[in-house]
Amino acid sequence: MEIIRHVSTTQKAIAFTFDDGPNPVYTPQLLDIFDEVSGRATFFMMGKQIELYPETVLDVHVRKHEIGNHTYSHPFMTRISLEECERELLDTDRIITQVTGTRPVVMRPPYMDYNLEVHSITAKFAYPVIGALNGDARDWEMPGVEHILEVNRKQIGCGSILLFHDGFGDRSQTIEAVRILTKELAEEGYQLVTVSELLQMAES
Ligand SMILES: [Zn+2]
Repeated sequence: MEIIRHVSTTQKAIAFTFDDGPNPVYTPQLLDIFDEVSGRATFFMMGKQIELYPETVLDVHVRKHEIGNHTYSHPFMTRISLEECERELLDTDRIITQVTGTRPVVMRPPYMDYNLEVHSITAKFAYPVIGALNGDARDWEMPGVEHILEVNRKQIGCGSILLFHDGFGDRSQTIEAVRILTKELAEEGYQLVTVSELLQMAES
């Protein structure tokens, strides 16, 4: 049972991830930002949100970004029954597949709330469970663009996985910070890749 927060690699590659979307206002802005640096990102989406904004989901998929499973309704997975856990993942897996024609192959538990019992369910889907190095950036609390940048810059390195949010509330600070970070990283020669691409780069 392992939550993957970074990948061991000597390649200059980083995975940006965005949780709790899709969001019709912020998700498209991120797609434009990643186009500017020819990068890709991973969006851990909630089934409930996908049902509301399927066009945004399709846009993410068509523009070659990855979509991961972030459950249907964002529960604490260790506090619900295993049947409910499985239902949360299965419903979202199906909804993503219906909208995009492609099954998700990675997941992130809401609140990073995870244990051995939940693992027995995610294992049924063969999902690697994806965490992140930069939880203390707390972009969802709107701590200021400078704070978000400062915390994230400390976690930059080969194989880093970084977490941001494009869902719930005002995400303007996240957008601004990601715009600046992606530009800096592109100038430093980093490739911005999806989580699945980063996992492929693992070296033992
Ligand atoms: Zn979340």
